[in-house]
Parts: sequence; structure tokens; C-alpha cells
Amino acid sequence: MDTLYDRANDPRAVIEADRAHVWHHLIQHKPFAPGPNQIDPRIMVEGRGLRVWDITGKEYVDAVSGGVWTVNVGYGRERIANALRDAVLKLNFWAGANGTIPGALFAETLIAKMPGMSRVYFSNSGSEANEKAFKMVRQIAHKVHGGKKWKILYRDRDYHGTTIACLSAGGQQERNALYGPFVPGFVQVPHCLEYRAGELAGEGYGERAADAIEEVILREGPDTVGALCLEPITAGGGIIVPPKGYWERVQDICRKYDILLHIDEVVCGIGRTGTWFGYQQFGIQPDIVTMAKGVASGYAAISCTVTTERVFEMFKDDTDRLGYFRDISTFGGCTGGPAAALENLAIVEEEDLLGNSARMGAKLHEKLSALMERQPLIGEVRGMGLFQGAELVADRQTREPLAEAKVQAVVADCAKQGVIIGASNRSMPGFNNTLLFAPALIATEDDLDQIVAAVEAALKRVA
Ligand code: PLP
Repeated sequence: MDTLYDRANDPRAVIEADRAHVWHHLIQHKPFAPGPNQIDPRIMVEGRGLRVWDITGKEYVDAVSGGVWTVNVGYGRERIANALRDAVLKLNFWAGANGTIPGALFAETLIAKMPGMSRVYFSNSGSEANEKAFKMVRQIAHKVHGGKKWKILYRDRDYHGTTIACLSAGGQQERNALYGPFVPGFVQVPHCLEYRAGELAGEGYGERAADAIEEVILREGPDTVGALCLEPITAGGGIIVPPKGYWERVQDICRKYDILLHIDEVVCGIGRTGTWFGYQQFGIQPDIVTMAKGVASGYAAISCTVTTERVFEMFKDDTDRLGYFRDISTFGGCTGGPAAALENLAIVEEEDLLGNSARMGAKLHEKLSALMERQPLIGEVRGMGLFQGAELVADRQTREPLAEAKVQAVVADCAKQGVIIGASNRSMPGFNNTLLFAPALIATEDDLDQIVAAVEAALKRVA
């Protein structure tokens, strides 16, 4: 019998099957519609390291780890495939009310990298991990705070996922448009991008940006606010590294008003910024941490909601019929996820990918900054580790954002040259004009040179 990949020997058949039946994420399908101007959907076929090939045989350098910053250890990792195979053949699934060997051993290994944290709750996607966190906060409001402290604060420009509750906590307008009404009790606080902070920018901006959160808490009433949910470095909202003084002040504010600090590490987790987690760059101690993409580098679907023992303790009232977390995720019981994740962590450790992310990230930052000297379309370069952004502007003086069509033309030009980069999410001007770079943590300086050279050529053409 033909294997799946033997059938792909007829690439046209695959392309036409895709054109006819696959509803792709996040894109307009009109260009694929049959007709004289039709273009083919791009079908990705194979990956090795940080290179990928599409069904036409074209090779790309992948500067965005699978498009959405996921494949942190790179493609083609045989030892993860073997770990998955072993786990699936031994016992592929058991529902999460019981334990499994991969689940227990992965949780122990993960917690060892997160001082102060204690418990791991398994599910499948970043959105789901955040939903679990929101439900925990709501249950704590009912059980511990007598129905108070039920509101969850989120930040302008941050993104926490695609479900209706996650969109309710979403600070990116275009993601939210057409999906309301949203869940009550989610309240927005301002972003902390100094480049676009107008008069607030300058010495002490970090503290001022944090104080703006306190103002919202006081306006809403501290006894109504249960949690603050933030990305450590805003990802799709334009690679926003919070300014000096911000995180310390945010943590103080949370402690002052007894508000749980929930850090969404779905993107930054597992080495993206050069430490295991983004929050560890800032010396803060969260109460809840969610993670997904890099946890198993996309070899299996797994996400985690990690809490302190203090949070976990709030769910242990056995005198109450409802005194436990009454939540389940069916596929949180798949053993492939934690088995792949355990191997993924071992690779990061053995190959010093945290160190490589920090070192190569600094080089990428330097190279993009040097490009900015030669190329006036770049207004600012920002990032940490192998997570960098270059905000594009039509005018450096006024900081007028480059039009979205031109930003997308840069991305498309790079792809034509065989380099896949990303751009911040489509939304208001000023949001949608940052080029994003997040290659696998194995990137070498040669890879970075190839990426930056393609961007330079693309910017020249678009300018
Ligand atoms: N949180 C952040 C910061 C994200 O960037 C994303 C997705 O890009 C999510 C959550 C949602 O993750 P998922 O798409 O796995 O549901």
C-alpha cells in the first residue's frame, strides 16, 4: 500500500486537494480560487534544522520557527520522534484524573526550571492554557474572595489566544473585530511601548507605564480585580520589551492589591529570549505561568498552566462538593505531549540553546541595528534573545508607520528570496508594521546573515 508520502509524488493532486478542501488559518482564500489568476496555496513538506522545503522543492530559511515561533529546537529531531513513538506504543492516552509516566517526569523536570512554581496542569494549546488560568482566577474569586476579585486585567497590544474568553483578554483590535459580544470582567490596561508612548516617553517611563495599571485598578476597585495577565515581551503586538523599572513596579502593584500575576509565556517560554522563560529576564515571581508553542517545539500538541503551591492550595477544600478545579482537557491526557516535551527540554539543555539564543540574539540585534543605519525605513529595532523586531516607518522623524501593504510586500519579497520572516498582527497602523524574527534557537551567524541580507534587499525594493 502507498504511504502518505508516496501519494505526495503527485504534487498537483495535493495542491488541488488543499485548494478544494482546506480552510487555512488567518488568510484570505480569494487568491486561491480557481480561475485565470489563481495562485497555489503553499504546501510545506519537509524541514531540517531551520530550513524547510515546499512542495515545489523550493528551499527556505525559516526565520519564524514554523510561522508562529514554535519549533524552538528546529526540524527533523529524531530523538523527539523516537520518544513520541515509545510513548504512543507504551500507552498513548489516559485521562488526566490519573497520572502517566511522561506526564509526571516532564512536570518534575519543568518545575525544576521554574523556582517558586509547583504544579503543572496539562492541555493542548496556548489559548486553552490561558482559559484554564482564567477559570482558576474565577474559581478563586468565588471560593476565596466571596465573589469579589473576579476581574482580569490584560494589556493593550497583548494577545492571549483565540477562544472567546481569550479574545476578551485580547488587546489587538483586528483579532477581536466581528467576534463580540465578549465575556464580562476583562479590563484593558495601557501598553508599554516607549517608541509609541508620545509625551509619556523618557526617563522614568517604565514606572509611569506600570503606574497606569495601578490607575485602572483604583478606578475598577482593587477588591474587584483578581489577576493581571501579561506577555513578558509582547509578541505579535510588535515585540515590545517592557522598559526598565516596569516589571518591578508591576509586581509591587500586584502584591499591594493582592492580585495574581499571570505571565503568558506561550511564545517566550523555553528559551526564546535566552532564559528558560521570559519573566526570568526581569527577576519577577509570577503566580501563574502559561506556556505552549516551544514546550514540545511543535512535535506534539501540549500546553501547560503552571501555578505556585499557594494557588494550588486554594483548590483543596475537601469539605466542599465543589472544592476542586472542575476542569478537564481530554487530550491533556495524551502521553506524546509530555514525552516529546521532556526530550525537547533535554535538547535545549544539552546543546546550550539558551546560551545560543542569548548570543545569536545579541548578534541579530546588532545586525538589524546596523541595517537600520543604512536603511531609513527601519524606525526601531527591539527584542531579546532570538526574538527580535524591526518597526518600519515611512518617516523616521514623525514615526509615521509604514503602510501595511508595504510591510507585507517586504515579507513577500523575503519569501521569494527563500527567507520566511513575519510581521506583527494586522490591526491599527502602528501595530502592523513590525517585522518579526524568531528563528530556531540553533541559528548560526551564517543563518542570521542570510536573513538580514534578504531583508535589506527587500527593503531596498519596497522603498
Ligand atoms: N498567547 C500568546 C502570547 C500567543 O502569541 C498565542 C498564539 O500566538 C497564544 C497565547 C495562543 O496560542 P494557541 O494558538 O496555541 O492557542
